[in-house]
Amino acid sequence: MKKSVQTALIHSDYVAPEGFAAFPTGIHHASTVLFPNVAAMRSGQWKDKNAYTYGLHGTPTTFTLEARLAEIEGGSHTLLAPSGLAAITMIDLALLKSGDDVLLPDNVYNPNRELGRWLSQDFGVSARFYDPMIGSGIADLIQPNTRLVWTEAPGSVSMEVPDLPAICKAAKEKGVLVALDNTWSAGLALRGFDAGADIVMHALTKYQSGGADLLMGAVITRDKALNERLAQAHMRLGYGVGADDAYLVLRGLPTMKLRFETHDANARRVAAWLKARPEIARVLHPAFEDCPGHAFWKRDFSGAGGLFSVVFDPRYSEEQTDRFVDALSLFGIGYSWGGPNSLVMPYRIKAMRRQWADEGVLVRLNVGLEDPADLIRDLEQALGRL
Ligand SMILES: *Cc1c(COP(=O)(O)O)cnc(C)c1O
Repeated sequence: MKKSVQTALIHSDYVAPEGFAAFPTGIHHASTVLFPNVAAMRSGQWKDKNAYTYGLHGTPTTFTLEARLAEIEGGSHTLLAPSGLAAITMIDLALLKSGDDVLLPDNVYNPNRELGRWLSQDFGVSARFYDPMIGSGIADLIQPNTRLVWTEAPGSVSMEVPDLPAICKAAKEKGVLVALDNTWSAGLALRGFDAGADIVMHALTKYQSGGADLLMGAVITRDKALNERLAQAHMRLGYGVGADDAYLVLRGLPTMKLRFETHDANARRVAAWLKARPEIARVLHPAFEDCPGHAFWKRDFSGAGGLFSVVFDPRYSEEQTDRFVDALSLFGIGYSWGGPNSLVMPYRIKAMRRQWADEGVLVRLNVGLEDPADLIRDLEQALGRL
């Protein structure tokens, strides 16, 4: 067809030759996805992962990322969300309705606690909090209307490691689903499905990205019917992820285990150094005996990663420990973890928890990929400022 320049700017006859192959996944940007004909459009199903209907429901880039994440975690279905928190919200909205009950560990990721409060206040769902060390005792808390038990292994500030298999077993016996926030382990140090979880959720924002440059979440399942319930909520919520971000996560995956193991080794070195310091009362790192649930970590985990907390000796005031945090130069003051840079964050833990015994100030460290000897030197000079 003859085209004016204006139309030629939009429509082109050129088609790139077939047969291109390379290691990186292609980055497919799309809102509109084209159907070859009307019949294909009419038979198109948004749920179908073998076909394309609309950018929101999947592109080769997002389908590839979903499949790879499921494979890494040992699951079979993945749904991508625009953040880790969006993934959490989707799980609750998919599985809970007015009159239902959800159980959350008292050390749960704080925005998940906030979501529980919201559901309780405005949506007729009861959200109750349990001692993260409850183990099989969770059975006594499960009511006929309990639909979901959230778990986190370990808690991402106070670091308690739960007896996850015991919680999962007790919930399963009562027909209640267990969701695991497995962000700390990146699906590497803890195999969520092996421990008995029904749903494994990740903030891909952390290790999968590895660059501290994007936000994304994933919800992984093994059960087709359960995935369909979640996928329905995913569609209704209108969740999508950007093609460039999906590509960046795909780009991060090949190096994730190497990065994770380096974070782990560096963090253990820094934690061991801090443990020997008189200013520190407790090192809350699952690989250390001070940490509640250390024995479960030894039994269930194959590694640790870069995140842990310390509790200062109670003789130091918050003003003093704030001075310590401000004096650090290699540790940025900021939330999140999993990127190359070390981070530090002081928490007012007593205000976050129903019960907390320690009097000293809790400071969380994310040990990055810097040389741990430099990090230790930095910590040493900052401790001098207490
Ligand atoms: C970071 C994080 C989330 C939320 O992820 P975002 O992408 O920041 O929303 C959820 N759970 C845990 C344990 C996290 O560390």
